[in-house]
Amino acid sequence: MAERAAPLHPPVYLDHHASTPVDPRVIEAMCEAMRTLPANPNSVEHALGRQAAAAIDVARIEVASLVGGEAQDIHFTASASDAIRKALELAIAQRGELRVAAMPVEHPAMIHALRALERQGLATVHWLQVDACAQLCRASLDAALAEGLDLVCMMAANNEVGTVYPVEEVLNACLENGVLTLVDATQAAGRIDLHPVTPLADYLVLSGHKIYGPKGIGVLNAPGSGAAVAEVFAQAGTPNVPAIIGLGVACRIAGEERVAECAHAQKLRDRLEAGLRASLDQLVVNGDLQRRLPHSLHVSIPGVTNDAMLARVSHQLALSTGAACASGAQEPSHVLRSMGLGDELADSALRLSVGRFNTEQDVDRAVQILVGAARAILSARQEHHLC
Ligand code: PLP
Repeated sequence: MAERAAPLHPPVYLDHHASTPVDPRVIEAMCEAMRTLPANPNSVEHALGRQAAAAIDVARIEVASLVGGEAQDIHFTASASDAIRKALELAIAQRGELRVAAMPVEHPAMIHALRALERQGLATVHWLQVDACAQLCRASLDAALAEGLDLVCMMAANNEVGTVYPVEEVLNACLENGVLTLVDATQAAGRIDLHPVTPLADYLVLSGHKIYGPKGIGVLNAPGSGAAVAEVFAQAGTPNVPAIIGLGVACRIAGEERVAECAHAQKLRDRLEAGLRASLDQLVVNGDLQRRLPHSLHVSIPGVTNDAMLARVSHQLALSTGAACASGAQEPSHVLRSMGLGDELADSALRLSVGRFNTEQDVDRAVQILVGAARAILSARQEHHLC
C-alpha cells in the first residue's frame, strides 16, 4: 500500500485553552517517578511506600507555592471537573442545601455540576449577568448577595474568550457577607498571580493539562475543610504518583517562569492579532480587551463561517470554534450566547491560544493560513452570490 507523504510542516498548535503540550521537564520527572517509585504511597509500612508518599508531599508543596496556599490544604483529584464536584460536596457538607450564584459563562464542568445539584434538590442557582465582553455585571452579584447566598462560584479567567474576572474583589465581598467561594482557576493558573486570591477562597481548583502538566490530574485547595475532606476523598483510590509528580513540576515551572512566559505569550498573541487585523478589515476581536489572558485571542470573521474555515485549515492549524467540550456541536457556545453575540459573529468565531513552545514563525504561518482561507471563502461566497 502506498504510504501517505508526511506533511511538510506539522500543524501549528494554537489550542492551549483546550490543553497544553506536556513540558519535556515534566515528562522527564514523570518517567523518573515511574522508574524509581514502584510502591503504593498508602503503603507507609515500608520504605518504598514512604518514598512515594514523600514525593507526593513535595508535589503538594510545589502546587501550594504556585497558588499561594498551604501544602496541607492541597488535595489531588482526577481533573478540575472532579475538583469542582468535590468542592461542591464540601460546601453542602458545611451548609446543607445551597443558594449558589454563578456566571452563565462558567465552564461546562461547573454548569453541569450545579445543574445536577439543582435536579437533586441540593442547590438553587442564581445565574449572574455578564456583559458583551463576558465580564461580570457587578450589580447583579451585589443584588444576589443582598438576597442571601451560601456559595459564589467564579472562574478566574474564561476558557473561551479569555476574559479575566475581578476575583479578588468578589471574594472580599463574599467574605464580608459570610458567603463561601469556589474559584475555578483552571485557565488562570500559571498566567495570573493567584497569591492574593487563594487565601481569600474557600475552594480553588486547577488542572494539570492546562499548565503543561499531564492530563487526568487536578487540584482542590480547601483550607479548613477538616473531616469532611476525608469523607469526600474516601473513595479516591490509589494516588496517581507519576501524574501528581508531573503536576508538581509543572506548577514549579509555572511559578518560576510565569512572568517571562506571559510576556512571550502576549507578544505572540499581539503579533497574531495584528497580522489578522492588517489583512482582514472585517475582523472582530471578542472578549474583554482590557482584561484578557495574555495568550488568548478570540475573533470573528463575518462572512467566514467557522465550519468553512475548519474544513480548510484544520490539517494545518490546531484551533477551535469554541470550548473543546462544546465544539463539534452546531450550536454557538453558551459563552457566546451569554455575551449576546449575533449569529454572524457567533457562526464565524475562532478561538486561538498561543503557548510556551510557539514561535514567531508559527504565528506568521498561522496568519498566512487563516488569511488565505478567509479570502478564499469570501471570494467563493461572492462568486456564488453573483451566479
Ligand atoms: N474549568 C475551566 C475554566 C476549564 O477551562 C476546564 C477545561 O477546559 C475545566 C474547568 C475542566 O478541566 P479538566 O479537563 O481538568 O476537567
